[in-house]
Amino acid sequence: MDFTFLTPPLVRFGRGCITELGKETKRLGNRALLVTGRSFLKQSGILDRLLGILEEAGVSTVIYDGVSPEPLVDMAEEARELLYREGCNVVIGAGGGSALDTAKSVAALAGAPGRVAEYLNGKRIDGAALPWVAVPTTAGTGSEATPTAVFTDPARDVKTSMRGRQFMAAAVLVDPELTLTAPPHITAHSGMDALTQAIESLTSRFATPLTKSLSLQAAELIISCLPRAVENGQDIEARENLALGSLMAGIALANARLGVVHGLAHPVGHRCQRAHGLVCAVLLPPVMEFNLPVAAGDYALLARRLDLPGDNDTEKARALVTLVRNLNQRLGIPSRLKALGLKADDIPVMAEQALPSGSTKANPRPVSREDLEGILDNAL
Ligand code: NAD
Repeated sequence: MDFTFLTPPLVRFGRGCITELGKETKRLGNRALLVTGRSFLKQSGILDRLLGILEEAGVSTVIYDGVSPEPLVDMAEEARELLYREGCNVVIGAGGGSALDTAKSVAALAGAPGRVAEYLNGKRIDGAALPWVAVPTTAGTGSEATPTAVFTDPARDVKTSMRGRQFMAAAVLVDPELTLTAPPHITAHSGMDALTQAIESLTSRFATPLTKSLSLQAAELIISCLPRAVENGQDIEARENLALGSLMAGIALANARLGVVHGLAHPVGHRCQRAHGLVCAVLLPPVMEFNLPVAAGDYALLARRLDLPGDNDTEKARALVTLVRNLNQRLGIPSRLKALGLKADDIPVMAEQALPSGSTKANPRPVSREDLEGILDNAL
């Protein structure tokens, strides 16, 4: 056994813990750039609440609210320019994965020369990073706990990621109450993203005993609570378990990496212009089927915790795949990629783009370009 385990140095979890944002930010800096999306934080009144909490702690705040879902790398560039202009010394990301990814890139690349987009191309990061505080409002991407940021780069017409230890949050505040306003489709999509991350990190070639225990519990929490949170958004107990599951899956994936669903989700999501979680949800059952010959033992571990039927690992693993298909159906998620707008002609390019991805390389069953085409073909 030989592994490294990376986590944010401080994780605060609990209903109402957002009141500690001022205290946790003040430890790190006194002039914050708060990075968020355009609409919901303002409309829900949460933004005013956060600003009040920060002011009370003696932190002055500048707002960048230009992040859209599935963000463009230009948004991180714009936010970083604002950080320089305003002389901020700490960054806060408040919102879904899109806002968190933008915030962590601004912080990680605060002292780095050149354009943000160059680092998506694999340029080595030099220069001092600034600390950033993660406040997730979806459950979720787990981005609060990962050293990864995902962007669309319009210049290269790709959706891709950058990663490094500089991207890790200095403090994470997971307040499940902040997810109460998420509408059913966002709850469903981001919840299925979290479940995909839990299942792919469980079976990843780089999984360790530490990550596997997190992945298993995360998957169990998400499977048991996601339908409840989608059907009744005010079910705070379900929201709390989902937020915990999503955080645990994030820590697991940060250390174990993922698999073919995530390898394919970036090109397919970019081609179809669909939410990342939705694309993951549609791809998860066919990729699980593909992985059955090598991953049945891990799937059966989860199936046992869920008390699924089956006389042996293979039968239990199959029952888990059926459960995931039924879960998608219950959440109103389509079963075919065609419903997302993917065309048969797109398949060769999608497979070519997914093949070199780090997620694809972490998949428990080695995959060729033909395998990827076959998975997409079956799922079309
Ligand atoms: P998102 O951040 O794109 O948000 C989707 C929509 O939900 C937005 O309009 C947002 O304003 C709204 N929203 C967020 N929280 C809300 C709330 N509590 N109430 C009402 N509306 C709310 O969605 P996401 O699924 O959290 O993030 C997706 C992005 O994260 C993608 O770009 C994906 O690639 C990326 N991602 C990153 C990682 C990582 O490790 N960095 C992991 C997985 C996904």
